[in-house]
Amino acid sequence: MDARLEAIRDTVLARNPGEAEFHQAVVEVFESLGPVHDRHPEFLEAAILERLCEPERQIIFRVPWADDQGRVQINRGFRVEFNSALGPYKGGLRFHPSVYLGIVKFLGFEQIFKNALTGMPIGGGKGGSDFDPRGRSDAEVMRFCQSFMTELYRHIGEYTDVPAGDIGVGGREIGYLFGQYKRITNRYESGVLTGKGISWGGSLVRPEATGFGTVIFTEEMLKTRGTSFDGQRVVVSGSGNVAINAVAKAQSLGATVVACSDSSGYIVDEAGIDVGLLRQIKEVERGRLKDYSLRRSGVAYVEAGSVWDVDATVALPCATQNELDGGAAARLVRNGLIAVGEGANMPSTREAVAVFQEAGVLFGPGKAANAGGVATSALEMQQNASRDSWSFEHTEQRLTDIMVGIHHRCASTADEYGEPGNYVLGANIGGFVKVADAMLAQGLI
Ligand code: NDP
Repeated sequence: MDARLEAIRDTVLARNPGEAEFHQAVVEVFESLGPVHDRHPEFLEAAILERLCEPERQIIFRVPWADDQGRVQINRGFRVEFNSALGPYKGGLRFHPSVYLGIVKFLGFEQIFKNALTGMPIGGGKGGSDFDPRGRSDAEVMRFCQSFMTELYRHIGEYTDVPAGDIGVGGREIGYLFGQYKRITNRYESGVLTGKGISWGGSLVRPEATGFGTVIFTEEMLKTRGTSFDGQRVVVSGSGNVAINAVAKAQSLGATVVACSDSSGYIVDEAGIDVGLLRQIKEVERGRLKDYSLRRSGVAYVEAGSVWDVDATVALPCATQNELDGGAAARLVRNGLIAVGEGANMPSTREAVAVFQEAGVLFGPGKAANAGGVATSALEMQQNASRDSWSFEHTEQRLTDIMVGIHHRCASTADEYGEPGNYVLGANIGGFVKVADAMLAQGLI
């Protein structure tokens, strides 16, 4: 790492003890930024990096609610409003028992760069709770969401902060959150949340956007080597919103997706995953992946172990952070891997990224490859602002253009800084320069 940045990094890590994921995200970005500061000493003078690492506002609150037995439950809610240089804070809400401040800050920090790369007018933020929706009834999820919004509503708004979904937060949760916001504020403010239902202000393609976008970005990477998804053997991790839509898009481009996972195990379906059955089990029935193997012949279900034990030419990690480690990366590389597109945020450990890059594997980091979700959220905001709703084809074309544009921005930035093919460097520098320029222009705030 550049010596000038080391001291800043050390201060940031010391000021934020015990936040391992936030540290990891910060260090990864700092490792790319040395050459930028050679060209732009004004960024150092204005302490842009120090300011960027300190969220503009962090909100932590109690979320009390009653379960179906009438027992009082207490969870912790978070919203980190990280950076508004380019627009209102924008980023999802995650409901998962692992959520704490360090996870929300890592996600919010990544979101700043991701949102800048989309070219849309959105700042970076993230939020969530340690609430676990799994095994909870609809009524319990509704009461939790209502309580969560009863505090959150005072901090958000279409010009202030616009949350969306993430792990554990899909269309059902966004509906309950929106309903409570409307009730408290007495305003039908469509632009306050994205990921809404199609009949009440949502955008077509938003549910598919992150998974589709990850595949479109990866296809662009493959093109640089004169190949494509057609004929590839693909493994996807996860079986949630991002994963299912990545499976669908990859198969529509001629790939065979042979495996996917949930937190209990993984399935191997050598004939190619039946997306309709997967959607039915995960989205409609809210069931487990094991059910898929019981309902389709020729499918193996593996309860212990990692989905990364399955060979692939293209890997799409779409579950969660640090799910793909150095050992798994080395094994995949030995067995013919040519590309990785991160649908999840920071799913590859630092060791895994090093293995991929040393082996010359095409590696698309999440902050570029999964930006299609937030970009389509920004398209939802555009439709809300103009009281319009676009067709599926038009919206999907906009998403495709945005993903091709992000790929181009990352690739050309990597070329400009003398590291062709380094999408990590391209994404970090491409996003950072845009935010840094805006921060300089807006003065010391
Ligand atoms: P979902 O809740 O829809 O799905 C998450 C999937 O990952 C589930 O299959 C879940 O399994 C699995 N999973 C979650 N945590 C773990 C874990 N600790 N170990 C193993 N498996 C796990 O979430 P999304 O699909 O929306 O999000 C997936 C990833 O994509 C996250 O990293 C998210 O930040 C990122 N992302 C999402 C965007 C979006 O638009 N939704 C936008 C950009 C990035 P199980 O059901 O068993 O818990």
